[in-house]
Amino acid sequence: MQTFLVTGGAGFIGSNLIDELLQQGHRVTCLDNFATGKRANLEQALKHPQFTLVEGDIRDMADCQRACKNVDYVLHQAAIGSVPRSIKDPITTNSVNIDGFLNMLIATREAGAQRFVYAASSSTYGDSEKLPKVEHKIGNPLSPYAITKYVNELYANNFSSLYGMETIGLRYFNVFGRRQDPDGAYAAVIPKFAQKLIQHESPVINGDGSYSRDFTYIDNVIQINLLAATTSNPEAVNQVYNVACGARIDLNQLAQTLKESLAHFDPTISEIKVTHGPERTGDIPHSQADITKAKNLLGYAPTYDFDQGIKQAAQWYYENLTD
Ligand code: NAD
Repeated sequence: MQTFLVTGGAGFIGSNLIDELLQQGHRVTCLDNFATGKRANLEQALKHPQFTLVEGDIRDMADCQRACKNVDYVLHQAAIGSVPRSIKDPITTNSVNIDGFLNMLIATREAGAQRFVYAASSSTYGDSEKLPKVEHKIGNPLSPYAITKYVNELYANNFSSLYGMETIGLRYFNVFGRRQDPDGAYAAVIPKFAQKLIQHESPVINGDGSYSRDFTYIDNVIQINLLAATTSNPEAVNQVYNVACGARIDLNQLAQTLKESLAHFDPTISEIKVTHGPERTGDIPHSQADITKAKNLLGYAPTYDFDQGIKQAAQWYYENLTD
């Protein structure tokens, strides 16, 4: 049994990590200030005897130190997500994602934890048009959010060299699945579309629907976090990895597949027409990952492709958004 700290554990990815770690018999601490996370996401964890909730802010060093006490591994997920939100309010994104990240690095080192695994982002590829994206070739960042995620990588790398810390960055590519929040102006596309379709409304695609992404089901993300935390391959440490499926799905395909999956539960959903709006600032047209590095060094093998993941997600949204 090991002790894991999951920051941002009340959020979409963090809460799924916590449930899996508890299921595997580990002790888990969660540090979260509920900025975007929900207590409901911790409903199962809060009943578990090996779970501790530290309600606090990563911008506060004392909160980070409190959460890091006696921890073996840190899975740092806490951040302010969303490219458009960072364009609207770069100061908050910067302070949480950079100052908070630095606090967590320092608190992890002081606590003597074995490894710091953190959520990086595919947005770090910026304006690079090269497809598929390979870890060592990035472009210029297109948003404050992307800048913060790149700075995280620079800091982690620097702390590895300066202090011999073990860090691993996971560049997530459009993660989706159970508990991803469909509400609010900054909701991600899959939960937003699922909610619209379940309510028999038309989802609005930004642009003509040709933009494409390497959508990645949550269970693949859980798998790679655990591999990253526990790998004993010295070459695998102090690296960043693409976390994706290695495929490219455009928004028209996404809407169609989601409609078909939801129509399985409510056949009238197949009649709903998708509409199109203007493109969004800061969005890159296409994104697709090369996942060879994660496969070779960490033994990552995604267990859900896009279609399989969408079926799972559709079922979860149908069960949780209809009552
Ligand atoms: P989320 O918003 O559901 O979770 C983030 C969590 O961090 C929330 O529970 C929130 O309350 C918490 N948090 C925010 N500010 C905090 C603070 N100051 N102190 C403590 N806790 C704070 O988002 P998510 O989709 O689960 O994302 C998790 C991580 O993965 C983030 O770092 C995000 O940038 C990164 N990421 C996500 C995706 C994706 O597709 N979801 C893609 C790339 C990177």
